[in-house]
Amino acid sequence: MRFDVLTLFPAMVEGPLSASILGRARAAGAFELGVHDLRAHGLGRHRTVDDTPYGGGSGMVMRVDVVAAAIEAVRRPDSHVVLTEPAGTRFDQSVARRFAGLPHLVVVCGHYEGVDARVRAHLVDEVVSIGDYVLTGGEYAATVIVDAVARLLPGVLGNADSIHEESFSPGLALEPPPYTRPRSFRGWDVPDVLLSGNHGEVARWRRSEGRALTRALRPDLPVEDEPAPKRRRRRTPATTLDGDEPGR
Ligand code: SAM
Repeated sequence: MRFDVLTLFPAMVEGPLSASILGRARAAGAFELGVHDLRAHGLGRHRTVDDTPYGGGSGMVMRVDVVAAAIEAVRRPDSHVVLTEPAGTRFDQSVARRFAGLPHLVVVCGHYEGVDARVRAHLVDEVVSIGDYVLTGGEYAATVIVDAVARLLPGVLGNADSIHEESFSPGLALEPPPYTRPRSFRGWDVPDVLLSGNHGEVARWRRSEGRALTRALRPDLPVEDEPAPKRRRRRTPATTLDGDEPGR
């Protein structure tokens, strides 16, 4: 999969996405990322990218012609182009999974007072918000989106199982709490079941802790009910000719 991020501040996106797991995965070719300076499409000697808002108001607005040129420079027939805005569809794990199935995701970062409304109306496929707060620019939003999507791609995480057993994966709302050494710290002990070596018990404990955590912290999320314990089928007692059960 390929990502292209269009921004006035490429370093704000390049830095975080070049480090750690994603930096290594990108270097190894698990995904491609292009970070493009919108100013390359700016106008005139000063490479102007914004202007004052029509109708008055504070701040500067990013120009539609500049953003259009930047999008059209990277758009392919199979591209999905996303604008980051507080007034957008909420980005969550299900959107991340949907994006991870795409061949090419283009993320447009606004800045200042935002982007001319004609970009939203005519140039992008979707508008996405990462939460109900206002950031100075779309660079953090783009970084969040690329991170959450890229880690779902094959070859990005060392352990492919991680993405099936973590919070918000189908059938699991929140992941149960993890523990590691030391076994006891300041009297805070690791639950005995995790040290039991009984894989069945551990798996049951994890499911039940995940459900309890979800109910406590995120009652808005659906939690799959604990499957009813398998009931051992009672064998129909053989009866003796005179109607007595044997062995009684
Ligand atoms: N005037 C806009 C409003 O009130 O909705 C806010 C503009 S904000 C200061 C500048 C840019 O930051 C936006 O164009 C967008 O790209 C980005 N941004 C800010 N908050 C965001 C959020 N919650 N999700 C996604 N992008 C955001």
